[in-house]
Amino acid sequence: MTLRSWGQLPARPAAEERWWNDRAASLPGIAGTMLAYGNGRSYGDVGLNSGATLLHTRGMDRFIAFDEANGVLTCEAGVLLSEILDVFVPRGWFLPVTPGTRFVTVGGAIANDVHSKNHHRAGTFGCHVRRFELLRSDGSRRICSPHEHADWFAATIGGLGLTGLITWVELALKRIPGVGIAVENTRFCGLDEFFALNAEAEARHEYTVAWIDCLADTPRGIFMAGDHAQGRGLVMAAKRPLSFPLTPPLSLVNGLTLRAFNQAYYHRPLPAQTVMPYAPYFYPLDGLLHWNRLYGRQGFYQYQFVLPMAARAALDDILRSIAASGQGSFLAVLKTFGDLSSPGLLSFPMPGVTLALDFPNRGAATLALFDRLDAIVSVAGGRLYAAKDARMSGEFFRRAYPHLDEFLPFIDAKFSSDFARRVLP
Ligand SMILES: Cc1cc2nc3c(=O)[nH]c(=O)nc-3n(C[C@H](O)[C@H](O)[C@H](O)COP(=O)(O)OP(=O)(O)OC[C@H]3O[C@@H](n4cnc5c(N)ncnc54)[C@H](O)[C@@H]3O)c2cc1C
Repeated sequence: MTLRSWGQLPARPAAEERWWNDRAASLPGIAGTMLAYGNGRSYGDVGLNSGATLLHTRGMDRFIAFDEANGVLTCEAGVLLSEILDVFVPRGWFLPVTPGTRFVTVGGAIANDVHSKNHHRAGTFGCHVRRFELLRSDGSRRICSPHEHADWFAATIGGLGLTGLITWVELALKRIPGVGIAVENTRFCGLDEFFALNAEAEARHEYTVAWIDCLADTPRGIFMAGDHAQGRGLVMAAKRPLSFPLTPPLSLVNGLTLRAFNQAYYHRPLPAQTVMPYAPYFYPLDGLLHWNRLYGRQGFYQYQFVLPMAARAALDDILRSIAASGQGSFLAVLKTFGDLSSPGLLSFPMPGVTLALDFPNRGAATLALFDRLDAIVSVAGGRLYAAKDARMSGEFFRRAYPHLDEFLPFIDAKFSSDFARRVLP
């Protein structure tokens, strides 16, 4: 099988794929390297191991225990966030931090230390992990927490799957008053307006995020603030999501369709305030399965960076460079990170502003644009998100992640990935 990452970029296949379903089993003795494969929702190559072994963890999908008094769930690392939501939302519990798709495994969420729209209040996913077990290729098992093997805990959270295999996890869920989300939508034009809205909204709301149209002459967008709402009446009717059926030879996303989509999205009728089911608020793209096929056989890149707040001017430069390139994105997502520190040595978030954009893979033209954007991000003291990356240089990665040297000794010699081989010393 040729497993591809979410961006569907052409990649060399793994030599072998094994299902790893039993958390008590030993890791296979193999000649080369191995890597856990969660649910393949990373865009680039952190989850790929070309020419070597991938261990599918989705079969490790059991709930182990739930402490109802404190909301602490113990589960295997292959459980999907969607499976947690299905069981626990009706009981009044929610994920403390959730990325923009619920189809990721708990192990994958830890390995990339994912963030959500509530970073300013809750930090990253790893901030809510109480403990986990780490299995190494030498057969050793360590219980890792902020108090026990704390150095292994810090290396494995955001550790890109390189420190070994996480088998089970204890995660603190959070109480919610109901299943809906009260949302306030505001259209804005220009980044000054975005930052003013955001400062005011972060003080009042648990979740904040904006969609921006980066192809418009002045960046414009829709700011969405949300909070869990009371009431039990908003359970989504269980309907089968639609699925994009095939990968067309060429990308259906191009300058023309992007402009038309962004225009229509910006002007669509929008209630200023509404209460909606949680799924379309947190996971708008999960409604169309395999939407990544829209980009055709050459696939697409996501480019997500964070800039320190003091380097705001660099954001203008980046948006100008993107608009000038004529390459752009559906649903570019703009958000600020708060100053809660992440527990992982290689966690991506830092206080500042982050933007995530999708680009159809147009070969050299797209890569040249990224080189220009890298130069701006780098000079501004920012960095790129490994979970979304498929091409940043090792030099840029090593400069942007100041704790890399502390992390290196924790890598398991039998674990590797395409990403690691590209960027690590
Ligand atoms: C539509 C969409 C929206 C997204 N939105 C966000 C967002 O808002 N915020 C955000 O932070 N991310 C976001 N992401 C990225 C996604 O959350 C991460 O890439 C996540 O890590 C994917 O998890 P996965 O289970 O699919 O893991 P994979 O992509 O399969 O693997 C990711 C990494 O986890 C490692 N891994 C998996 N399981 C284990 C294990 N048991 N033990 C050790 N290592 C393991 C793998 O080796 C790999 O390095 C989004 C992705 C998509 C497709």
